[in-house]
Amino acid sequence: MSWWRWPRGLQAAVWAGALLLLFGWQVRQHLATADRRVGISLEAAQGGVLVTSVAPEGPAAAAGLRAGDVIVRVNEAPVASLPEYDRQARAFQRGVPVAVAVLRQGRVVELTVRPGMPPDWLPLVLNLLGVLAYFLVGVLGLYAPAEDPRRAPLVLFVLAVALELALPSFPFGPPGLDAGRYAVFFLLTGAQMALELRLVSLIPQRASWLIRRPQWAQGLTLVGLGVGLVLALVLVLSRWQPGGLGLSPQLPFQLLNFLVLPGWAVAVVGVLWHQAQQALSPLGRQQALLVLVGSAPWAGFVIVSGVLQLLGVSLPRWSDYLQSLCLLAFPVAVFVAVYRYQFLDFEHLVRRTLLYTALTGALVLVFYLLLGTGSVLLSEWIGGGVSVVLVSGATLALGLLFSPLRAWLQRIIDQRFFPERYAQRQQLVQLAAELPRFGKVQTMSAHLVAKISEVFAAPRVTVLLVDSTNQLLVATASTTLDLATEFDSAFLLSREDRAVNVLGQAGTPLPATELAPLSASMAQRLAIFGADLVVPVLGPRDLVGLLLLGGRGESWGPEELELATLLCHHVGAVLENARLFEAATVDSLTGLLRRETILDQLDREWLRATRYGRPLAVAMADVDFFKAVNDRYGHLVGDALLKRVALLLQQEVRASDLVGRYGGEEFLLVFPETDLVGAKAVAEKLRQRVAEAGVVNLEQGGEVRVTASFGVAAWVPESPGCSTWRELVDLADRRLLQAKSLGRNRVES
Ligand code: GH3
Ligand code: MG
Ligand code: MG
Repeated sequence: MSWWRWPRGLQAAVWAGALLLLFGWQVRQHLATADRRVGISLEAAQGGVLVTSVAPEGPAAAAGLRAGDVIVRVNEAPVASLPEYDRQARAFQRGVPVAVAVLRQGRVVELTVRPGMPPDWLPLVLNLLGVLAYFLVGVLGLYAPAEDPRRAPLVLFVLAVALELALPSFPFGPPGLDAGRYAVFFLLTGAQMALELRLVSLIPQRASWLIRRPQWAQGLTLVGLGVGLVLALVLVLSRWQPGGLGLSPQLPFQLLNFLVLPGWAVAVVGVLWHQAQQALSPLGRQQALLVLVGSAPWAGFVIVSGVLQLLGVSLPRWSDYLQSLCLLAFPVAVFVAVYRYQFLDFEHLVRRTLLYTALTGALVLVFYLLLGTGSVLLSEWIGGGVSVVLVSGATLALGLLFSPLRAWLQRIIDQRFFPERYAQRQQLVQLAAELPRFGKVQTMSAHLVAKISEVFAAPRVTVLLVDSTNQLLVATASTTLDLATEFDSAFLLSREDRAVNVLGQAGTPLPATELAPLSASMAQRLAIFGADLVVPVLGPRDLVGLLLLGGRGESWGPEELELATLLCHHVGAVLENARLFEAATVDSLTGLLRRETILDQLDREWLRATRYGRPLAVAMADVDFFKAVNDRYGHLVGDALLKRVALLLQQEVRASDLVGRYGGEEFLLVFPETDLVGAKAVAEKLRQRVAEAGVVNLEQGGEVRVTASFGVAAWVPESPGCSTWRELVDLADRRLLQAKSLGRNRVES
């Protein structure tokens, strides 16, 4: 039965057992090593081994050994090389005295050292944590879907690293064992390289070059194993006795640090970059980017430490642990990217949390590097006060450059890797810029809902604007319902509504699920407009309106919410201005001309008609028993009815006719080129249409209907009757009163 068919629990148990055994061996070796250590570091020297440093608390220091001494004999056996010293040290026991002869200033000094350093627990604990972390990611990978081609390389990679960390070391062990340990280490490294390259070429999907040339997959494995083998071979040869065949024992490590690791890191980053660019979907691109970000710490570490070592800087011991820690980010990123993305807002995670944080970190690093090198070089070249001034100036300049540089890089990243989001933002910027050009609130709202629906891929968008005169929110445009032909109380919402207040105070988008429980009216409107998100539109002073969004297949990401909020803040100011400008001529609730405006227009029509001898008619309309409607159904229903009647009047007359709101529920209609018979016919048609129409009464159910009475008057050149337009309006008004007294719901002329 193949390994991968074993029950996962069993596989994990086998791995755990192997790692435990190996790590146990590491602990034993570590303790044994501590027993044999005397607290010195050594270097090969002429005729012996040179003590380069002595640990102050160690047994060597206690015995009087000093840095600069050359050890020539241990326990009567001559010591001429490091392996010879190690051979002696292998027999050391804690507390058992050792006779050491050293050459000090030309004289031989005899010393007695009692070996045994306290064990150093920190590296053991760090290694154990590393083994555990990698093992855990390996187990998570084991439980990933079996058919995923990335599972095997991920699990094997992670376990190879865990094995490497669990490997014991034998500083005083037999040379064969020590060499064997390093050979295994190099083979594991080669395997990791092959597995990692294999893995990244499968994220988010199989790389195009792997599809074209399937044999490249085997090629990768061969390269990895080959590199491991070559390094292991060089190591074995360099330790070949006697003299290591002329190869330096450092050679395999130099090859690893200067050639293999940096090359591998560059290859991983390159493959991921390529994969991100070639990804077929935005999500795939983000997956590849997340893994790229996850491999960046390790790649950066490997390259920087390679360069530092080339420059002759020796790295502290903890840098090894840092490397395995940095490397851990990679499998974790793979795991999250490949298996866990559905639980996260992926784009946000990649862009904001990781990519931009990493970018800022890198920029800060570059900034300080430039600053550090700059100040050192300057003080060397110029020195004194001038360099201080120059460095301060440069700091200031760099500081000023920092933020634009970051913005510039972010824009490039956005354009390249998040083109959808970039386009979305561009569209919104464009929308914000072009909106004022539409001039009228009505057309602006219509354009706004259409565009927002497109940009956010939300089919249901409605905008409600506050009518400041009567504290109402009036729907002005919607992609869901046709506001031009139908209108009922659902299209209005009180400004005093609790949910509206909450939105106004929050100033941020709130989901329908949070708003619906706050008020029944809001819940009804949300249902009618199919909204699942409400964005408050804020003006410079107060709430200007609400944007209702819904019907999107996917959820709203934080970035989109932020964009929608920003847009609404901008739009708020634009709409507020347009509305203030319009308020002088148009009534905001009904959208009809205001009293002053229609009288102005009538004045003009009057002049034209009387000069050219053309007929002109007016009609005055008043809703019947409207007070009772308000009293019985509430103001909101009354307002909706008014708007409904206004829409009807506007729709049923010719485009050249004028309709205005004369008073609360009184309307003035002006019919140019129309005589009394014609005007009467229009008024009769209007009367009927008003009587037929009604609005749904949301709160109590059912439909509310009203009737209206009309008074019609006309001026014709044959029998003028009145000499000013005021008289004409008065006449219509008197006939309206007559219609009222004759029983209402009728036309008088
Ligand atoms: P009728 O005209 O048939 O004699 O009776 P009516 O009840 O309509 O009487 P009138 O025209 O005098 O009443 C006007 C009422 O219209 C007063 C007020 O309650 C209502 N009204 C006026 N403007 C508005 C408004 O903007 N919204 C609402 N909801 N009601 C209004
Ligand atoms: Mg009235
Ligand atoms: Mg009335």
